Amino acid sequence: MNCLFCGIVNGSVPSYKIYEDDTVFCFLDINPDSNGHMLIIPKKHYKDLNDIDLNTLNHIIEISKKMKKLLEEKLYIDGLTLIQNNGDVQEVKHFHLHLKPFYNNPKDLMKIEEIYNILTK
Ligand code: AMP
Ligand code: ZN
Repeated sequence: MNCLFCGIVNGSVPSYKIYEDDTVFCFLDINPDSNGHMLIIPKKHYKDLNDIDLNTLNHIIEISKKMKKLLEEKLYIDGLTLIQNNGDVQEVKHFHLHLKPFYNNPKDLMKIEEIYNILTK
């Protein structure tokens, strides 16, 4: 199976990694809606919400709490929207949870390298 996000997990596709553990991988969205837009994915390939098991889903939510704190501390976000697409609105068919920061006074989109440096240093 040729899956882009499996490629990110195994390192054959480069990514701006923010966090990883045995179960999940978290990286910056390459085409962000706002500064700090990131994706949390299971390392194992699950297609969508029907496919994924509850333990993995629970862990993804747990990590989203951790990433929310990181975004608050490092990017001073004012809000955060979690989105998970399925079916015809899902472009990449490997389960992923979007974390999209909201800012009361939005700045222009920064370079992804710059966001990566802020979140990882
Ligand atoms: P969707 O499947 O519609 O929920 O969205 C897929 C998301 O993956 C989009 O926001 C893309 O910008 C993002 N994306 C696609 N390719 C990459 C990549 N190589 N690295 C990081 N994000 C990506
Ligand atoms: Zn995959």
